[in-house]
Amino acid sequence: MTVIDDNIDADVIVVGGGIIGGSFACLLGQAGLKVILLDAGVRQVNSLKKVDARVFAITLASEQILKKAGAWQRLQKEDIAYFRKMHVWDENGLGEVNFDSASICQSTMGYIISHQAIVDALQEKLLELDNVRCLWSVSPAYVKEEADTIVLGTEDGLQFSSRLVVAADGHNSKLRSLANIHYQKHDYKQSALGCIVTTEFAHSEIARQRFLKRGPLAFLPMHDPHQSAIVWSSSPDHIQRLKALDKSAFHFELAEAFAHELGDIKESTERAVFPLSRAQADSYTKPRLALIGDSAHTVHPLAGLGANLGMLDAASLAEEIIDTCQRGRDPGRLQVLRRYERRRKGENRNMMYLMDSFKHLFENQHQSVQWLRNFGLDTVDSLPVVKHVILKRAMGLTGNLPESARGHF
Ligand SMILES: Cc1cc2nc3c(=O)[nH]c(=O)nc-3n(C[C@H](O)[C@H](O)[C@H](O)COP(=O)(O)OP(=O)(O)OC[C@H]3O[C@@H](n4cnc5c(N)ncnc54)[C@H](O)[C@@H]3O)c2cc1C
Repeated sequence: MTVIDDNIDADVIVVGGGIIGGSFACLLGQAGLKVILLDAGVRQVNSLKKVDARVFAITLASEQILKKAGAWQRLQKEDIAYFRKMHVWDENGLGEVNFDSASICQSTMGYIISHQAIVDALQEKLLELDNVRCLWSVSPAYVKEEADTIVLGTEDGLQFSSRLVVAADGHNSKLRSLANIHYQKHDYKQSALGCIVTTEFAHSEIARQRFLKRGPLAFLPMHDPHQSAIVWSSSPDHIQRLKALDKSAFHFELAEAFAHELGDIKESTERAVFPLSRAQADSYTKPRLALIGDSAHTVHPLAGLGANLGMLDAASLAEEIIDTCQRGRDPGRLQVLRRYERRRKGENRNMMYLMDSFKHLFENQHQSVQWLRNFGLDTVDSLPVVKHVILKRAMGLTGNLPESARGHF
């Protein structure tokens, strides 16, 4: 199925071939639409072998979307780690909360997968789709709306026309700037440090997060029982100091900060630093243009939600476009795009502010807040019904889900 006519190059142009743009292009490509995908990066060959400090907690909803996109099936067994339980506790006090996927009859709460493994799987799938054309090392220079089409020009002088252009080029989206869409950004004045560590004790497929005074420290279980991906959020000065430490000093500080929950740290990979902010675009759509993923919003990574929210954007917009094309209508009309915006913007905003509240709640060192926080953790832990509601939501089993995210029911 395609609405292409002789005057245009593609039904949809996607700018950005990361996890969100790649998934979106695969969903459209699988449905038979003609797609052009542009990415400013270089296509990496054999990057599966590379150690990637960017590791994602992936929900069951995102798993379903990646299956529909035809990428999940291409992940290697050793790329996928399971987390069946979660343990969260506060540095100041005895409060804690434990979640277990078995309590809601699921075999896992979600998966831990490296960013690169997912992008590689998506790229493999894209190569297989004859109706998707991928161009690497290409960046947009302008977009121009015309009567029934939109024209995108690239920095190296190429020009393409289509019914719709979709920005999936991340938080610094150039396409969003070219479209003059304002992005309200709040700098958390925090950075996150990420790397893979080898620990003395096995992780037992439990994701762990300890809330420290300056920010949360998470250990996410990898396929190897003694390896975890860490995400340590703190002040930029502290993170820079941690990054500069030699290995043994870093291992010592990390084990101490994690209260030796997994024993000593035996080994670690190169440390990467990410500045943290929350942001939301004033509008996700304009006539013939839409934003998805980080180009539309970012959240604090403390609950590992950013990419999962972006996957829901990609699946929701893909559904609206495919449905419109199947009726023989124009997918670039604002009316179609606004349906997508209504489905996603409110939910993304709510999650952004929820993460904000958690961040502030756990960083507040006032004694009464500390007490309340620990009381809250213990109360949630003792209420199975409340825990099940939180758990199902965090796993992507409830909420206003697009059809392609619903396979687990
Ligand atoms: C420390 C940390 C931990 C996180 N952990 C999790 C987690 O556990 N779970 C989770 O769901 N989310 C997590 N996130 C959030 C997640 O990283 C992002 O939400 C996700 O990567 C967004 O994907 P994206 O495809 O929208 O953008 P990106 O991953 O930024 O991809 C953008 C793509 O666009 C391309 N591009 C950029 N500029 C241009 C241009 N001018 N022209 C063409 N192409 C361009 C890039 O090359 C890239 O391929 C975490 C974030 C951080 C910082």
